[in-house]
Amino acid sequence: MQIKILGCSGGIGGSRRTTSMLLGDDILIDCGTGVLDLEIQELAKIRHVFLTHTHLDHILSLPLMLDTVQEEAELHPLQLHLTQESDQIVREHLFNWKLWPDFFNLGDAEPVVLESNLHAVGDAIKTVQCELQMLPAQHSVPAVGYLVRSTGGSLAFSGDCCTNDSLWEVLNQQPSLDHLIVECSYTDAEQELSVKAKHYCSSSLAEDLKKLDHEPNIYLTHLKPGAEDEIVAEVQKLVPGRSIKALHNGQQFEL
Ligand SMILES: [Zn+2]
Ligand SMILES: [Zn+2]
Repeated sequence: MQIKILGCSGGIGGSRRTTSMLLGDDILIDCGTGVLDLEIQELAKIRHVFLTHTHLDHILSLPLMLDTVQEEAELHPLQLHLTQESDQIVREHLFNWKLWPDFFNLGDAEPVVLESNLHAVGDAIKTVQCELQMLPAQHSVPAVGYLVRSTGGSLAFSGDCCTNDSLWEVLNQQPSLDHLIVECSYTDAEQELSVKAKHYCSSSLAEDLKKLDHEPNIYLTHLKPGAEDEIVAEVQKLVPGRSIKALHNGQQFEL
């Protein structure tokens, strides 16, 4: 199965796009601005959206996408996979007829176009091509990561995250780990901000990487716009001996 990175920046500007990845041609993990680059025909193929959390940079394209593919979604309702806490937030604050129509319920006479599938950390969700397991994450709102397993290997994605033990414990329980996409939003100069915003900075990520027993290819994501090279250089220096690179828009993984 192919995984394509549609967006992996901590912000916008130029060619930067916010978090989203496409699994095969019908599954998204997160729905940031990277989704806006897909053609209408590609959008219409998407059946499942797995959310890490409800921050705008991870869900921005979801309401717009639903509006564009509504006819298709009337035939195959889009399946939203998320935690109960995130479900409550999107219903209350996004699909509330004020920011956007309530696509969960457009009216009694209207077909269903969006359905929630509630999951908890540890749940493994099987799809035709892969299995996605919800991973624990630590962030300023309820958040999870995902472990994707397919016949060709495994890839873990932290989502937005700050220092914790549970993510690393779960990863160490896996028999193997081929790729790790982990966020690192800030340089060490912005350590104070990273603690407040509950994101990793270079040194807090470097400390947590010591907890990981596996030696996957590590890709840093959610880098602050303009500070990308500096963050990657800082982490590489603090964690010598591991394969650490920046994640790039358009990058593909074969699992
Ligand atoms: Zn966030
Ligand atoms: Zn984010």
